[in-house]
Amino acid sequence: MEINIDKNSGFCFGVLNAISMAEEQLRKHGTLYCLGEIVHNRKEVDRLRKMGLITINHEELKGLSNTRVLIRAHGEPPQTYEIAEKNQIDLIDASCPVVLKLQNRIKKSFTEMEAKEGQLIIFGKKGHAEVEGLLGQTGGKAVVVGSDFSGLDDIDFTKPITLYSQTTQDKEKYLELTQLIKNRIRQCNCAEKETSAPFTSFNTICGQVSNRGPHLAGFAAQHDVVIFVSGRESSNGKYLYSICKEHNPRTWFITGPEELNEEWFAGAEKAGICGATSTPVWLMEEVAKAISSFSS
Ligand code: SF4
Repeated sequence: MEINIDKNSGFCFGVLNAISMAEEQLRKHGTLYCLGEIVHNRKEVDRLRKMGLITINHEELKGLSNTRVLIRAHGEPPQTYEIAEKNQIDLIDASCPVVLKLQNRIKKSFTEMEAKEGQLIIFGKKGHAEVEGLLGQTGGKAVVVGSDFSGLDDIDFTKPITLYSQTTQDKEKYLELTQLIKNRIRQCNCAEKETSAPFTSFNTICGQVSNRGPHLAGFAAQHDVVIFVSGRESSNGKYLYSICKEHNPRTWFITGPEELNEEWFAGAEKAGICGATSTPVWLMEEVAKAISSFSS
């Protein structure tokens, strides 16, 4: 059986950068705190933990002082930087430049919307670290709408609305949301309203995620069986897996080689291995090795 690893799968540059910053610090100092899991992949987290990386949460951060803490690619709200300054914590800031740029845009946009008594909407997963960082730019005042469109009823459609997206969201869902908002504005805009409130939307989904979708659709279709490798917590993992499954029903989601099932490959001539922006290449290589042991 031919086994191919997708060349475009694996860490995006934001995650690669955060991991290489962590490794550099670990080589120099032996240990390093990381605020939240550095990547949504248990196996990579374990590898770095063995090198000395200690994952902490926000409560634990408050109890630290005079030490070094890494901020992962998802970014952080302003409060985290305030705590670090107060506790004399040296932040190793590995926030992805794409996320930082979005934080700044949201901050500026929110100030403009407040002046117009408008609302800023973030399309993203409530409680997700990146969304918390974005929400923090608005003092927690932006409305978060999830991919199930929960939160939509918190919007006042008679007022101006500006919409942004978490960088790892599904583009189709984002487009669906923009249409839903337009429809609601139209409904509110009946007899008593003379003009419609302006609605501006910015598709801020990262190219590292949205470009992989069409590519993976082709990759999945070219193989008899597809093995999608990802942590179960990864947002873009879920999204990219759904694309593979749609284009090849013989797609299986695994977190590591131990979850493989030999029966999945019955009669297959070509097996494809791919993953999320948080999937390490070494893990896909281990999966390939395990599959080749089935076919030998
Ligand atoms: S998916 Fe894009 S925005 Fe998110 S960490 Fe990777 S490069 Fe940065």
